[in-house]
Amino acid sequence: MNEKKDNKKKIPIFAYYIILLAIVLIICYTMLPKLMEPEEKEISFSEFVTMIKNDEADEVEVNSTQYILKPKDFDTSNIYYVTGNINNDFHESTSLLTLLDEKGIKYDSPIVSSSVWTDIFLVYILPTLLTLGLIIILMRSMSKRMGGGVMSFGKNTAKIYAEKSTGKLFSDVAGQDEAKQNLVEIIDFLNNPGKYTAIGAKLPKGALLVGPPGTGKTLLAKAVAGEAKVPFFSLSGSEFVEMFVGMGAARVRDLFKQAVENAPCIVFIDEIDAIGKSRDNSISSNDEREQTLNQLLAEMDGFDSSKGVVILAATNRPEVLDKALLRPGRFDRRIIVDLPDQKGRVDILKVHARDVLMEPDVDFEVVARATPGASGADLENIINESALRAVRAGKQRVSQQELDEAIEVIIAGEEKKNRVMSDEEKRIVAYHETGHALVTSLLTHTEPVHKITIIPRTSGTLGYVMHVAKKEKVLLTKKEILEEITILTGGRASEQIVFDSVTTGASNDIERATEMARNMITTYGMSDKFGFVNWQKKNSLYLTDTKTMNCAESTFAGIDEETKVIISGCYADAVNILKEHRNTLDKIASVLYDRENLTGEEFIELFRELEPDVTINRAEGDA
Ligand code: ADP
Ligand code: MG
Ligand code: ZN
Repeated sequence: MNEKKDNKKKIPIFAYYIILLAIVLIICYTMLPKLMEPEEKEISFSEFVTMIKNDEADEVEVNSTQYILKPKDFDTSNIYYVTGNINNDFHESTSLLTLLDEKGIKYDSPIVSSSVWTDIFLVYILPTLLTLGLIIILMRSMSKRMGGGVMSFGKNTAKIYAEKSTGKLFSDVAGQDEAKQNLVEIIDFLNNPGKYTAIGAKLPKGALLVGPPGTGKTLLAKAVAGEAKVPFFSLSGSEFVEMFVGMGAARVRDLFKQAVENAPCIVFIDEIDAIGKSRDNSISSNDEREQTLNQLLAEMDGFDSSKGVVILAATNRPEVLDKALLRPGRFDRRIIVDLPDQKGRVDILKVHARDVLMEPDVDFEVVARATPGASGADLENIINESALRAVRAGKQRVSQQELDEAIEVIIAGEEKKNRVMSDEEKRIVAYHETGHALVTSLLTHTEPVHKITIIPRTSGTLGYVMHVAKKEKVLLTKKEILEEITILTGGRASEQIVFDSVTTGASNDIERATEMARNMITTYGMSDKFGFVNWQKKNSLYLTDTKTMNCAESTFAGIDEETKVIISGCYADAVNILKEHRNTLDKIASVLYDRENLTGEEFIELFRELEPDVTINRAEGDA
């Protein structure tokens, strides 16, 4: 479909050159010679009279200084004959006029006056035409290079992306049951709009898919078109905002025109926040975006939804959208597409594993448990990475080992085998990670240890402790957050106790602990001192949040102080725990130093051997 439109666009430009060439040729060969200044030939008065007498004259002009004779063969010779009228002899004149009358030759109108028009044409009109032609050619080639048409506003349809059928179905989208349920109605509407219009029900013109990146919004929109078996018109918000003012609005117009012609169909506007940004709080106004947005609003109001055009849009920043877009009759329906939960992750893994040869005993539950917070796109990536690894290892099928490696790669970056770590450094890292792991196991509300590793990664981590959630958590208690912070301080605490010095290795721990502690005070109202008050405004719901403090300067300082108090308390707890179990810390750290990797089970086993009586927080199924 796209190719055909491209061709259509090229024909007019080609034809245009031919027309221009033709015009130039016509001017050169037909008009110019006729209008060219004729030659003047001086003759004597007697010759002049003889010509008249011989019937050679066609017309004669008599003015105060000259007689001008236009001969009968003027068309071929292009010559005027001129003779002076200096003596201005009255008798001569009257006898000449009598002669002219006798011969029936006109002498009352000027002959040579047409030369004025020639001048006008040559001096003014021709250059103007040529300049215009040149400008048009330049603009043509310029707009062609920029991929759009300056001269063809509103006719540029080449970029609109249409698919006759998307080939995606709901079965390709795992989890997201709630979103699917909301979309089922739209599919039904597209299949038989009559059922709805008969009753007088108006279906929403548009639905907005809202959720973090990679959760399958685009996929869902395609699946709706696939399920309804209708064409899918899609355009990304950023494509609307173009170099030339007015292009975006023209695109919107085209998109809707095409959609209405192809109804029933789905119009999908991806990343709508690029054009739909709220107009009132932007510092620099963007005319182009505003025009595009206005055009979109106008089109949405203008078209008749009973024809069966449904507009879907996707965004991960719903809070920045202009309120006008969310008004009833526009994107009044919001469909939340959230990060998958444990079960959703298992389903997504299964969907993407359909075409991959897997050992029968691979356990997606384990993969899902180790990847809380992963999006559909991440999980797809994990499956693909595991398949690549299986090929590299020369295996016929993907086994659990490749899956585990893939998780680590996706989560922590590729293993960096050749990174040289000094012996001392490796010992410090071993103690640091063991510190985290021990604190984790000795607290009660934490997520059990799944794996400890001190193999450096390209992402910059020297080692890490992986946790598994016992079950999906939606709410966090104050106690849980505090224990989480204590775990984070465990690494540094261990270094402090054993080496009595600290390293830079804890910077990420510190960052995360600080954020948690600060959030406890500013967002969750978990500090007695600062109470049930929000001190910090969130700017974005779905992307990595940026935040603005929402309080007085002095409160701000107080919050800093309190954050430090919370973390110091946790740090002290961690130090106490590790001091109490110093022997275990040493033993496990040295095993980790040797082996570089410890699974959750191995870790618990070691712990048990060293301290049979202690209660260990562990995952179900671990020894
Ligand atoms: P978004 O538009 O929300 O950023 P996409 O729809 O582009 O995300 O998803 C990226 C890829 O991730 C999809 O092509 C798909 O393969 C995979 N994916 C995401 N969510 C799911 C899901 N729920 N089920 C199956 N695959 C998914
Ligand atoms: Mg997308
Ligand atoms: Zn750490």
